Amino acid sequence: MPIEKNERIRNKGRETRNKRKTQTAKSFEIKFDKSKISKEKLSNLQRLFLEGKWFTNYIISKGITDLVPYRDYKVNKVNVKVKDKFEERELRLLSSQMKQYIIKRLQNNVKALHELGKKGKKVGKIKYIKSLHSIFLMQYGNTYTLDMKKRTLHIQGLGDFKVIGLEQIPNACDITTANLIERNGDYFLHVTVYVPKEEEVHNRKVIGIDLCIKDQITFSNGIKVKYNVEMPKRVKKLYKVFSRSQYNNETKERSKRGQKVLVKIKKEFARENNQKKDINNKIAHYVAANYEFVAYQNDPINEWQRLFGRRIYQTSIGGFRDTLKRKVSTPLEVGRFAKTTGICMYCGYSLHLNLSERVFKCPSCGHVQDRDVSAAKAVEGLSLRNVGETLADDDASTSNMLEYLKSIPHVKASIAGEARSPKQADGAQEAQSVRVG
Ligand SMILES: [Zn+2]
Repeated sequence: MPIEKNERIRNKGRETRNKRKTQTAKSFEIKFDKSKISKEKLSNLQRLFLEGKWFTNYIISKGITDLVPYRDYKVNKVNVKVKDKFEERELRLLSSQMKQYIIKRLQNNVKALHELGKKGKKVGKIKYIKSLHSIFLMQYGNTYTLDMKKRTLHIQGLGDFKVIGLEQIPNACDITTANLIERNGDYFLHVTVYVPKEEEVHNRKVIGIDLCIKDQITFSNGIKVKYNVEMPKRVKKLYKVFSRSQYNNETKERSKRGQKVLVKIKKEFARENNQKKDINNKIAHYVAANYEFVAYQNDPINEWQRLFGRRIYQTSIGGFRDTLKRKVSTPLEVGRFAKTTGICMYCGYSLHLNLSERVFKCPSCGHVQDRDVSAAKAVEGLSLRNVGETLADDDASTSNMLEYLKSIPHVKASIAGEARSPKQADGAQEAQSVRVG
């Protein structure tokens, strides 16, 4: 290598290191949209991981410490053990850079084992692998590139893939390495990006939330989330057993059997509560990560609980609101007495709605709309008026959000017809919205 080039690389390295000191690393998970990827490309992906496995085992068989890395990552045919004999396999998708990193990773493993050995720990050898689940993509712009507009990921040698979740990546950031992951037949990309430390880049987007008893959570983008962690039948049975168990009036204690059953009931409740907490966290986390401004009404949830009891208890809406308050960067609270239901989301006309009216038609402009979506919109509008911001959401983030929410166990997420702008809301969309609720 000529001296000048060496010098240049060194300088560049120093520059990057200095820059990183002012930045924080963040990692985002991007999902491959299998429904929009051809069979051929999917089988190529599968093949890539297979080749990764072959190459890994090839390196292990050679003995990792006496490798000639330069020669080895140029290798494009390896022997693969099939039953008792070896067969030659071609590496047509695994690039030199990918191979380079597989070698590096194995060498690190050997080093780590060696260190453990020195400390007197008993260590085995590196074993052959049965499958490979991650492939390192070392260089953004080379091994892989992302196209935010087309929503595609390009992988060197494999082509373009439609992906979901790119909108999480902030506009102003340095995209660096990524890991291509295979998980139960689905493919993901874990991208590492660097953002400025002080002024963390936020998605300057806003979302309004309406909490209610029927649909639980409704977002101003039209997404509705229901999450019912059903109390299992066996709890009801247990409760029957418990209520029939003998109660000693003197000692104020239940019989031994009754006490045992009570322990079981408590366990079931604890498990159910954990599930709910987990769901709350997942939804709130997503909202906080994707929307800088989150508007909600300070509803008297405690009063609801008294009035409606069990239903609310099951969804723990209050828990969701509290989690949200903690997580979002700019929570916008709308007072509990502000009118948010029965306001037309298109013309602003206000009317009185009974609790049973889930869909209403605006007497002024004639638009049919979902009660909760319009309420969430109203919450969003009111809060933004308070902060004097004008912000918008986009369709891409809505479909990504829906996708994400659907992936959470015990959560039912759907989209109400009338969440779009009035222009799009005519005709077919209107017919759709009538069915809501
Ligand atoms: Zn109207």
